[in-house]
Amino acid sequence: METAIEQGKATDVTGLALGLYLHVPFCARVCDFCNFYQERPEGDDFSRYTAGVGRELTLRPPPRQVDTVFWGGGTPGLLPARDLDALGKSVRDAVPVLPAEWTVEMAPASVRADKLRVLKDLGVNRISMGVQSFDDATLARLGRPHTRKQVDRAVALVEAAGFDNWNIDMMFALPGQGLQAWCTDLAEAMRRGPAHISTYCLTFEEDTALWLRLRRGELEQRGEADEAAFYETAWDALEAGGYRQYEVSNFARPGRACAHNLGTWRMQEWLGHGPSASSQVDGMRSTNIHDTDAWLQGVHSGSPRFAESTALSDALLAQDAVIFGLRMNEGIRVPALRRRFPAAAWTAAEQLFEELEEEGLAGTEGGFIRLTRAGRLLADRVGLAVLERM
Ligand code: SF4
Repeated sequence: METAIEQGKATDVTGLALGLYLHVPFCARVCDFCNFYQERPEGDDFSRYTAGVGRELTLRPPPRQVDTVFWGGGTPGLLPARDLDALGKSVRDAVPVLPAEWTVEMAPASVRADKLRVLKDLGVNRISMGVQSFDDATLARLGRPHTRKQVDRAVALVEAAGFDNWNIDMMFALPGQGLQAWCTDLAEAMRRGPAHISTYCLTFEEDTALWLRLRRGELEQRGEADEAAFYETAWDALEAGGYRQYEVSNFARPGRACAHNLGTWRMQEWLGHGPSASSQVDGMRSTNIHDTDAWLQGVHSGSPRFAESTALSDALLAQDAVIFGLRMNEGIRVPALRRRFPAAAWTAAEQLFEELEEEGLAGTEGGFIRLTRAGRLLADRVGLAVLERM
């Protein structure tokens, strides 16, 4: 059964759940597929960063009680225990009532007992680990700085610290990976008993090491049919293992879906702090500047710097609510969205939904429009159609 927070029940009179996201921009090294904003920490970077977040939380505090907190990156788990503690205390000062869900991403190689103790004491109740694969050769080909042995050590430490809600991120369609290897990876993931498993198809992001290898002809990009086989393998294996799919790439044991992500996909509100963090709150969508020094200079001078900032409109929110809503297995309830965003292009949207149904990509049930299995395999294409038509 879904918890109240999974159902998107906000604790506030606005009716919207509020998430607080911290972007921690440090990584020990750059993974070959990654284009997130991150940098290699030097000198007193950690303490400058934690002081900057403390200042940003004072300048732009959460406008009301926060329902979920998520520290992502980058690699939040790279911070030493004392910096995690300082960061957590700033959050606790800004969020007087402990949120229902507080997630921290940790790279397996950065998990330590002292860090986990600090996080547990702060009230963190969900640990998310980017594992990607249990095969050391595949991990090396991705430039991931950990081994299968380190993953097992990390899992043992997380469980020993008393976290029963932890998740594993996996990747598929990797260089040299066949369907059988993917099945083995999924079985390895489930055998360790996480509450939640995310599965992401490898994409070649511009200017990453893998993208350069693709450009040089050293790697081949998979076709749509190939990728579909990987997706379906995961969907069948995870369902058989007791993990319910709730979004194209996300699976959880009952009651363990990530409430923070659900809030984002349901177009609720979130406040993002740290360089490159995004916010959607108080009628604005904005992204902090993608540069730690410039971000620090902005928050310490009292004028936070943004890379972009857009006023929210019914059209923008409705479009995203439909795109992200259709990626979720629960789907979308159009009358409710129409009431929330009356000025959006609903006539064009209804026409598109009809076409999707005719093509067997969507269906209506109990007032919800949901993608069929065939539709979920084409979720990116459906998203593009929504962008063009709404
Ligand atoms: S640890 Fe995560 S954020 Fe850092 S480089 Fe690797 S994938 Fe990117």
